[in-house]
Amino acid sequence: MKKKIVFTLFILSLVLSSILLYTYFFSYIKFNSVTATDRILVWIITLGLLLYYIRLEKNPQLAAETIITEKKKHDDKSNDSNRPDVSFNDVAGLDEVKEELQETIDFINNSDKYMKMGAKIPRGILFYGPPGTGKTLFAKAVAGETKSTFLYASGSEFVEKYVGVGAKRVRTLFEKAKKDAPSIIFIDEIDAIGTKRNTENNNEKDQTLNQLLVEMDGFNRNNTVIVIGATNRLDLLDDALLRPGRFDRHIHVGNPNVRSREEILKVHTKDKPLDCDVDIRDIAKKTHGFSGAQLANIANEAAIIAVRNKKSLISRTHFDSAIERVVAGLEVKNPHVLAKEKRLVAHHEAGHALVGKKLKVDMIQKISIVPRGQALGYVLNFPDEDRYLLTKSELLNKIRVLLGGRAAEQIIFGEITTGASNDLEKATKIANQMICTYGMSTVFGNIVIKDQYRFNQSKIDNETKKIINSCYDDAIRIIEENKIMLQEIANHLLEKEILYGDELDTIYEKYKFPIKNAT
Ligand code: ATP
Repeated sequence: MKKKIVFTLFILSLVLSSILLYTYFFSYIKFNSVTATDRILVWIITLGLLLYYIRLEKNPQLAAETIITEKKKHDDKSNDSNRPDVSFNDVAGLDEVKEELQETIDFINNSDKYMKMGAKIPRGILFYGPPGTGKTLFAKAVAGETKSTFLYASGSEFVEKYVGVGAKRVRTLFEKAKKDAPSIIFIDEIDAIGTKRNTENNNEKDQTLNQLLVEMDGFNRNNTVIVIGATNRLDLLDDALLRPGRFDRHIHVGNPNVRSREEILKVHTKDKPLDCDVDIRDIAKKTHGFSGAQLANIANEAAIIAVRNKKSLISRTHFDSAIERVVAGLEVKNPHVLAKEKRLVAHHEAGHALVGKKLKVDMIQKISIVPRGQALGYVLNFPDEDRYLLTKSELLNKIRVLLGGRAAEQIIFGEITTGASNDLEKATKIANQMICTYGMSTVFGNIVIKDQYRFNQSKIDNETKKIINSCYDDAIRIIEENKIMLQEIANHLLEKEILYGDELDTIYEKYKFPIKNAT
């Protein structure tokens, strides 16, 4: 900001100096009131501004001052909202995390009790886990429950090209926290500054990290300041940051299970007018693998869809549309799909559904050939219960279902299309994980392969190919044996564009027993 002002002033005075210079040499333009001293003064000011601008550009100290002044202004502005009114009641589910944090809260609220016993206040808590799972919300809730000042910073804010600027920002942040204690400093994406240090000296990032370590060591007992860091990559963090006395409490905040999803949905629908057909538990079941942020988004989307449809209550169909929007993307309006392509898509999706149904992989909620996002069709499915472990045969079945679309194209049209690229990517990923992460391949056995390139990439590729080819053969066989069922599903899709789970069940019951050599 300061640099911009100096630059603007410099340009203005440069223009003025140029005019004065011009009128000095071309006497037919007269500025009677401008004396020689005025001219010299303007030229000196211009030169001064130019030199000052160059100094600002080159000198990190001045740049840092500028940035910190801006930050101070920002902090002052946000002072009112520094004590969040978020409590644990606003954070649904994840009871184990709440329990773990309860002690820290007690420590802040009754610090005397602990100090009398000579116990030290915990300094750092590290939340790790996938995005959108409520890490920031938890940090705010700790501040809310303890009536502490909440200071938010993102790791990337400390990354600067000027050496020393990041470190100075860390210092400023901690000074403010100590001044406003009790306080919670929340550093989101801490991996931006906290990754393992390398051997380069005077690296700006290392200086920032060093400063953070120094600040975390430097609290005295009277300062109730707790630093909460959040990251999606715990493995990248420097060991010094994780040692006792710094971020020594590591709490995993993962995607919610079905019960937590139900709780989160309840929190986000409590002020919304719901129709009586809305079953929150049912929505929780259909949203396996969703994060808290996605669930909040679904509740909001459903409300928007209800308003768009001019309804006064949010119904089940609004929630279903919201889930579909999150899973498959926006519905394409007036899509121009050729009739031939539609037939292909219908058989491709029917292939996935049929293999899935036969192998009992997940519950199929809906099959659609209405284009959404980049997909021309999709099968909406979800597991009937939360699973934490998968067997080798279950993983192979997942691959078979993914390849069911291509297998159907091959059998019905005698040709394969580009439509399976995303399926192939997912199938290859699972097969690769089976070999390298889960030790499930017959060739390599029970080992984890960390460095695939060093290990012998071509051997791994061959093994991946073997798994994929064998699963593809199985998918082909299943579809060959159930060709009539496949055609019935595809015909239904071509006629109505959508096939619901119960309709699929009816077709499945009709043709449950394979008819060999069907035409
Ligand atoms: P990131 O890693 O991307 O920074 P995060 O883990 O910090 O994400 P939050 O910002 O805390 O996630 O969550 C985003 C939003 O999701 C919250 O504002 C809230 O609306 C909703 N949310 C997430 N988890 C929960 C939960 N357990 N209870 C209620 N709401 C939740």
